[in-house]
Amino acid sequence: MIKSIAVGVITALLTFLLWNGIDVWPVILILGLVAALTYTGVWNKVVQARHGRQVTVGSAVRVTFNDIGGQATAKNELKEALEFVRNPERIQDLGIRPLKGILLTGPPGTGKTMLAKAAAEYTDSAFLSASGSEFVEMYAGVGAQRVRQLFVEARQLAKRQGQANAIIFIDEIEVMAGKRGQHHSHLEYDQTLNQLLVEMDGMGASETVRILVMAATNRGDLLDPALLRPGRFDRQVRVDLPDREGRLAILALHTRNKPLASDVDLVRVAQETFGFSGAHLESVCNEAAIMALRDNSPAVLDRHLMDAVDKVLLGERMDRNLRAGELNRVAVHEGGHALVAEVVNPGSVSSVTISPRGMALGFVRQAPEDDRLIQTVSELKADIQVCLAGSTAERIMLGEQSTGAANDFEKAWDISRRLVLSGLSSLGVVHEEALSPESLYQAIQDIITQQQAEVDRIITDRDSHLRQLAQQLLESETLSGDAVRGVLRGSDPLALGEATSA
Ligand code: ATP
Repeated sequence: MIKSIAVGVITALLTFLLWNGIDVWPVILILGLVAALTYTGVWNKVVQARHGRQVTVGSAVRVTFNDIGGQATAKNELKEALEFVRNPERIQDLGIRPLKGILLTGPPGTGKTMLAKAAAEYTDSAFLSASGSEFVEMYAGVGAQRVRQLFVEARQLAKRQGQANAIIFIDEIEVMAGKRGQHHSHLEYDQTLNQLLVEMDGMGASETVRILVMAATNRGDLLDPALLRPGRFDRQVRVDLPDREGRLAILALHTRNKPLASDVDLVRVAQETFGFSGAHLESVCNEAAIMALRDNSPAVLDRHLMDAVDKVLLGERMDRNLRAGELNRVAVHEGGHALVAEVVNPGSVSSVTISPRGMALGFVRQAPEDDRLIQTVSELKADIQVCLAGSTAERIMLGEQSTGAANDFEKAWDISRRLVLSGLSSLGVVHEEALSPESLYQAIQDIITQQQAEVDRIITDRDSHLRQLAQQLLESETLSGDAVRGVLRGSDPLALGEATSA
């Protein structure tokens, strides 16, 4: 309608100018250019760039709390806080100060944005989202102006949609709301944060559109304390990496639209994905489906999911051509890791492979039966032994070590360091600052030397098993945990279950 009126008016104007003998070509040229830019969408981008911020209005796909797997505590805490928005009269009757801000903290990909979207759905609120980095420019005052504009837009959007509430979601809030006075272009940062505080302080229960600010950060420690004082973000919800139950729920959600073969065991996948975030798990399900497509398989098979876990963990399978000697060395190295892992932690090896992925030439996947939130001294020492096992296997079987173990040594060193600094070494309780670098170095060296001796013993006692494992790896490239255990049980039933206590 507006378009037709505009076209009519422009045509009439051009005819009038032409009638009066005025050269209209420059005007036609400019109009043509604007029309082309608008048609291709470039104009919108120019306007957005001038405003500098891309606000996502609403969420293209509606998210409810049921679409979020696990995170039961976060969901409950959030729902409880959102009662403020759902029952404003009751809150007012009791004289309770309205809730202005909720801060979601936790590692990347754990579902913070999803929770904010679900909160908007739960409270029937207009939803606007922006990222902290979009507010900060080189020029002082621009960020503050954008903050003001965001609040205006939120009110307008809610009114347009006939809603009484609006949720403004600011992702990566630490970028715009870090501790004041710490940034080199601090004036701009400080002004932006000040404006956010001013807007939040100005939000009242009596407004026609009630605004709730939700923000997310991976670095809560960087935030300016003023932001966290009561009356601003006075609810903090921790969104952690999912536990095993949570991982299972997320896997179930992301496979509900995918055909799964009968051999798929999501419980096992959940067990093997300790430390994965929701975003990682979504990627596992997606990659598995892509692999099924590549294989022309009508359903996602167990091996697709397992391959996808490896891919998300380590990267794409590489086509590296190793020389025969190198391949043999990798087989011995990985066989060593697998053997020691099974001896010190029976049943823990999930698979071992010599097929290169990402930076790794081969790897052993271990799947603890339960998520480990704390570790005992013997568990830490067992982990060190597994790290040292690859290079030890190379030395014992092939006569010398290689550079392939550099990463393992780094890990062994880190674990030993953690052991010392947690007060679990012979030094007893220590404080890093009071410990000389030499004493720390010596304590770590002592731990590693002790564990090395133990690994030497385990491998020397089972060199025939190691030879078999390496041989089978060369033949089939990948061995399941059961196949590894089969080799170890083969000729020596005592090979498994023997705890080490060095
Ligand atoms: P970041 O801190 O990096 O911004 P985030 O915590 O905001 O990440 P989201 O953007 O909410 O994470 O999640 C990314 C994707 O991961 C989602 O689109 C979803 O596919 C998946 N995901 C994450 N957590 C969950 C969960 N708990 N349940 C289902 N899917 C999840």
